[in-house]
Amino acid sequence: MEIIHLSAECYPVAKAGGLGDVVGALPKYQCKAGHIAKVVMPMYRTKFLYDNEWTVDFKGNTNLGNWFFDYTVIKEKTNKLGFDLYLIDINGLLDRHKIYGYDDDSERFTAFQIAFVNWLTHWEHRPDIIHCHDYHTGLIPFMMQYCYDYNNLRQIPTVLTIHNAQYQGWMGWDKSKYIPRWDLWKRGMLDWNDTINPLASAIKCAAKVTTVSWSYMQELRHHSNGLEKLFEYEQGKCVGILNGIDNEVWDPETDRYIQHHYGVKNADKGKAQNKALLCERFGLDPEKPLFIFIGRMVGEKAADILPAAIRRAIDQTGGQASFLVLGSGETQVEWEFQQMVVPYAGVYQAVIGYDEALSHQMYAGADFLLMPSRVEPCGLNQMYSLRYGTVPIVRSTGGLQDTVVDMGDPDGFGIRFNHASVEDLVYSMNRAMELYRDKTHLQWMRKYMMEIDHSWEATVDEYIHVYKSLI
Ligand code: ADP
Repeated sequence: MEIIHLSAECYPVAKAGGLGDVVGALPKYQCKAGHIAKVVMPMYRTKFLYDNEWTVDFKGNTNLGNWFFDYTVIKEKTNKLGFDLYLIDINGLLDRHKIYGYDDDSERFTAFQIAFVNWLTHWEHRPDIIHCHDYHTGLIPFMMQYCYDYNNLRQIPTVLTIHNAQYQGWMGWDKSKYIPRWDLWKRGMLDWNDTINPLASAIKCAAKVTTVSWSYMQELRHHSNGLEKLFEYEQGKCVGILNGIDNEVWDPETDRYIQHHYGVKNADKGKAQNKALLCERFGLDPEKPLFIFIGRMVGEKAADILPAAIRRAIDQTGGQASFLVLGSGETQVEWEFQQMVVPYAGVYQAVIGYDEALSHQMYAGADFLLMPSRVEPCGLNQMYSLRYGTVPIVRSTGGLQDTVVDMGDPDGFGIRFNHASVEDLVYSMNRAMELYRDKTHLQWMRKYMMEIDHSWEATVDEYIHVYKSLI
């Protein structure tokens, strides 16, 4: 089977969060399972672009409304990621340093999608499946169905995977001129609440919709930033498939970013060595339990309640625990995290920014990972932390609920709580500190967590099953 993945992110080319990890891994494991999976994404100015060699695969031209543009499709020469990687270059529009966050993101991603379908019409053969990821590629199912210029693509089934339904790519109807000549009777397939909504359009037009965990699938019918009724209506074509993790990248025995490698057998020693390094670097005491947070500092992740919770936990225990946070996001939240560095020196540190290497060292060296998320479609951090023997402390929502069992339950290996509140979080940290004192229980838990299999090998078949149902 030949599958084309379309995405705004793909690790290690360009990553802002879990979407990048998934699109960097799922195609690789689909190829390993004997299929042909390819990734097509925008060409940003990333380190990966400059560090690798490329061949020009196609040159074409098309238009975004009145703006006519040339595009170039380049392909990575060596297949080093385990799948064919294609980047679409649109001069002046896509070739920038950041993935998102520009005023003309609507134009950038719409032009990317138009260039892709335009390129696809020139292929000599047809792939079996077009697999779109999130709203940045959400207009493709519509265009393949209802744009006159792409009639020859109509028969190819499309699948949409929703990694995050909070972001939908809303565009005013004045931008409908961007979409190449389309059947105006199909306006309803683009529209949701009087705007062009690329995510809603993809849910309507794709043959199948998957979400990245089972619980998230259910939650979307009640909380999906305005799309609740659509999810209710389309539930027949929706499937929840839990994300996997790339065990080759995320393996404490081989991880190139960590100093001391370890496996299940020497986890206590390996973690202690990595923790010592982290504590030395950030001026923390390695004897105390180390809690970490890694992620976007935004409302979805409930990062806003963390500063108060950390302060209270430190004050209540007289500084008996250490905290290290890594992330970036809302200015106010970043500022709060930064403000605490001086008053809580010795027990707290914050790194504001994105640091792939440090994140790996933190999963390896920490005792506990904090994830109080309000919304968590799947969550990869908790799965990485399981693999690295770090106990996850999570709110019971979405994928967190599907992957963590509270230690109070039989064979439980994590800590779960219900409300994204300072009280629930501090209470859970206290439970963690008790666990930290009970070394035998903690050691058992580490071993148990590290042996849980969340590999993609176990999940790839579920996607293949979805594709097969469409062919
Ligand atoms: P998201 O909603 O952000 O996609 P996920 O849990 O699905 O959340 O995935 C987050 C991924 O991004 C993980 O690989 C995590 O380690 C990584 N990550 C998030 N923030 C940072 C950061 N500031 N530095 C390094 N890695 C980060």
